[in-house]
Amino acid sequence: MKYSAVRTTFSPGIQIAFLMLIIFMSACSNNAENTEKAGIAISFDDHFINDWYELRPLFQKYGAKVTFFVTCGDTLTTDEIAKLKQLEKDGHEIGFHGTVHGKSTELIAAVGPAKYAETELTPGLHYMKLAGFAPQSYAHPGGNHNDQVDSVLLATGFKILRDVAISRRKMFGVQLYALAPRLMDWIFYPFDQEKIVDALLIDTDAELTAEEMKEAITKAKKTGTALMLFGHQPLYSQPKNGAYGFDVAFLEKILKEAHEQKLQFYKMSELPAK
Ligand SMILES: [Zn+2]
Repeated sequence: MKYSAVRTTFSPGIQIAFLMLIIFMSACSNNAENTEKAGIAISFDDHFINDWYELRPLFQKYGAKVTFFVTCGDTLTTDEIAKLKQLEKDGHEIGFHGTVHGKSTELIAAVGPAKYAETELTPGLHYMKLAGFAPQSYAHPGGNHNDQVDSVLLATGFKILRDVAISRRKMFGVQLYALAPRLMDWIFYPFDQEKIVDALLIDTDAELTAEEMKEAITKAKKTGTALMLFGHQPLYSQPKNGAYGFDVAFLEKILKEAHEQKLQFYKMSELPAK
């Protein structure tokens, strides 16, 4: 009684000030907890092993850990295996990106789940195993999948399945849509143990700007999420002769910004485990 009597002597203004202080303090402690997890998960697809290997000094400069999704494991040369081993030793992850890089939805509709696995998964995984790798993450070839494909992949033991998100889509030279990456909630991993995720394509044809990436990195930092990005071949000039990939200078801007904002670098299999 005495306590409440004392409390009622505070003016409404002071009571509101107390309430705001409590809200502010709790918001601060939540933020501190969240921002510690804030991070970035960058991955690279296909079979550009020699080019990826050349990026080692860049990764080391910013303390970056990334994931390489390898396709066509049957064609891995001794030299490529040694390079992937070194990348793994550096702390990067070696994931899997299919054996034949097929359209999984068409394949599974035509031949069924067992034959789909026999064609796209088993042979490549066998070669990866022979080479000494045990991939825990999968990137859908061509970003093509459905629930049935996902269930086969999850039953195979993959911890996370990565699809493709695109911020701009053009058809016959006409832009159909353009989305700022910071508004694409689905490319920010909220650490909810979800195993089916989307990463934003950073190849040159996505026409992303450094400013957009800075905004997206800032959003990851503020929301305690992990920004998921991916690209293909590292390029040092405009793509020629059907080459598809990302500008290495652009990648460096992303790494630098993430490093400066003290984001964690996540390997893909780490996301659902955190
Ligand atoms: Zn691919």
